[in-house]
Amino acid sequence: MTIATPTRTRALFREDAYLTHCDATVLAVSEEGVQLDQTVFYPLGGGQAGDTGALVLADGSRIQIADTRKARFEGATPDDALHLPAPGQEALLARLAAGERVRAEIDWTRRHRHMRLHTASHLMCAVLPYAVDGCSITADYARLDFATVEPIEREHVEARLAALVAGAHAVTTEWITDEDMAQRPELVRTMSVKPPLGLGRVRLLRIDGVDLQPCGGTHVQNTREIGGLRVAKLEKKSARTRRLVLELVE
Ligand SMILES: [Zn+2]
Repeated sequence: MTIATPTRTRALFREDAYLTHCDATVLAVSEEGVQLDQTVFYPLGGGQAGDTGALVLADGSRIQIADTRKARFEGATPDDALHLPAPGQEALLARLAAGERVRAEIDWTRRHRHMRLHTASHLMCAVLPYAVDGCSITADYARLDFATVEPIEREHVEARLAALVAGAHAVTTEWITDEDMAQRPELVRTMSVKPPLGLGRVRLLRIDGVDLQPCGGTHVQNTREIGGLRVAKLEKKSARTRRLVLELVE
């Protein structure tokens, strides 16, 4: 079955990344996944991994969600997310139909690590003034590729990051129109990740006094919440690219 009519999901995590669950109505169920009228599940994008968790049915049965991806159907907006069931959920899925109420619950421990590492990668942009041409954020690490031939010093990066975390900078979001975004190309730091245009407005992520760039991902509210960081890997990915991998120090 494919989704015939384009529908629209409210992406609650864009307004509040700390929501761990929400009640929702099923819009569509297909082989590709489950679409809801609103969700706290972040779909893979901007380098950040998609959320995992469960859709809880009225009788308490749990459909395990292994990943979340942006819907690809015609007319889909960047907010239309598909919740991908883990293998072996077919019997429960068969009971799910459009109009049904479910409770969407994310794996918060995992997501909070995404938020800490994602915010840390914004700090990296402030520490190293180079264009980013690749980025991947998982629960275990943040990997960033910087377009530079300059040497990068591990100790320098770790010391600067520690100072920015300890500096307890507020992390906030603000919105500008697509037109304003088009006129401020200097805001875009990541060449491989285009600002999420097409919704009429673009979200900017501001780390007070540190960084400002378009970003639709999930972040912590204050740099202090990131905690300890270490540079786990620093390597020459190509003649013009330096790859840096950050990990959380527990
Ligand atoms: Zn971000």
